[in-house]
Amino acid sequence: MQRVLNIETVKYINKTVKVCGWVNSIRSHGKIIFFDLRDRSGLVQIVFSPNPKLKVKNEKHAPYRTEGSGAGLKVYDLARTLRPEWVIEVIGTVKERPKGMINPKIGTGKVELQAENLKVFSEAKTLPFPIDTPGYEIREEIRLKYRYLDLRRERLLKNLEKRQLVIQFMRTFLQNEGFLEVETPILTKSTPEGARDYLVPSRLYPGKFYALPQSPQQYKQLLMVAGLEKYFQIARCLRDEDPRADRQPEHTQLDIEMSFVEKEALLDLIEGLYIALVKKLFPEKKITEIPFPKMMYKEAMKKYKTDKPDLRKDKKDQNELAFCFITDFPMFEWHSEPASAKATAGKWGAMHHPFTKPQTENSEEIKKNPEEILAEQYDFALNGNEIGGGSIRNTNPEVLIAVFEILGHKKDEIKKNFSHYFEAFSYGIPPHGGIALGIDRFLATILNEPNIREVIAFPKTGDSRDLMMGIPADVSKEQLKELHIKLSKN
Ligand code: ASP
Repeated sequence: MQRVLNIETVKYINKTVKVCGWVNSIRSHGKIIFFDLRDRSGLVQIVFSPNPKLKVKNEKHAPYRTEGSGAGLKVYDLARTLRPEWVIEVIGTVKERPKGMINPKIGTGKVELQAENLKVFSEAKTLPFPIDTPGYEIREEIRLKYRYLDLRRERLLKNLEKRQLVIQFMRTFLQNEGFLEVETPILTKSTPEGARDYLVPSRLYPGKFYALPQSPQQYKQLLMVAGLEKYFQIARCLRDEDPRADRQPEHTQLDIEMSFVEKEALLDLIEGLYIALVKKLFPEKKITEIPFPKMMYKEAMKKYKTDKPDLRKDKKDQNELAFCFITDFPMFEWHSEPASAKATAGKWGAMHHPFTKPQTENSEEIKKNPEEILAEQYDFALNGNEIGGGSIRNTNPEVLIAVFEILGHKKDEIKKNFSHYFEAFSYGIPPHGGIALGIDRFLATILNEPNIREVIAFPKTGDSRDLMMGIPADVSKEQLKELHIKLSKN
């Protein structure tokens, strides 16, 4: 017999069906045992009555609990041993519930299953925490240690479902706009994008390293040289930054790049995407202002003292979405602290990244007054959170060299590290620009979640540990040796 989903039982009134799942909560009324069976589709009520004629069938595979003595065991007696979170299969007849017994809170509230056979696949220990609440009240360390149990929680399942709908919507929208989805490598080269790289030692080339991508920035620009014109990717980005409560060492972006595009057209595309997405997937939400307000960085800083202002009219309203674009950022910012081992203290950094086009193409002027140069950079904010950022790119090699020089790179170093990039420029490069939109942050904001871990299946703690897998972890001496790595004593 084919298994049906719990939610589908309503279509089988007075028919016999097979359902599978987890025992959710058990109640007994006199001799009758009731419980909700949970599968991904939801709950259905199961009823076991003490009918001595019903014997456990299917002795060969089950019941697992009664091996050896299973023959002739009454279904009811086996049902009496059930405990929460056991994984079972039930065959029974779907019956309409009497009027007064209807439960409007669940999708199958009008029916129940009169059980005729039961199979136990697996027993379960008592869970370390309840899963029938939203779970905010439980210490997060323990939720993350047992994330596979935490994910049984309805709230988290719903978040994952919404996440997939959002990503699916983005994909379809962009494909309809003529974009091509392309995967770029995970093993790549250390880049000057501002954060520290995660490095991967090479076994075959002693002393050499790959870097995990901080973003597909260079690859997507090279795809423009390749003539793809419209690229996107749901991209994982890895940045070894200092721990912060609401930061993750890896996050997911909708990464976009376009050729022959101007800033206005690109921002219009993004605006169109988010308006359509909200309308389709979050119809209960209200967008504060359309078209999305645009303001220059300088104006935002003066008026709101932040480059991600919260423009909601009513900040207590859970359903208000205030999107805005911030434009015309300064090209450079002064770092009084080194951003990473690649930077030295007290030097200019790129506000976005070095591939951003400065608003002047005069490299002398750039070198003379870096603090005054504005960039073709834009950020995208929602309710006071940055949910995206991008720029029109610099395709003028001379200006790019001037930018790298201000960032403290020596001329020969620039040639060495970016020879692939400069060489690509010499084979016909279209004007292009792009943006990356943070999917985790957007979801956390729109779902009114307190942090991005609530919308990621397996997040790390604020200090970059995975408590479930126990990482970072040691590796064997042999593995290190193979990678030509010696650990220093301290
Ligand atoms: N690569 C940039 C980032 O990850 C986005 C972009 O410029 O497209 O922030």
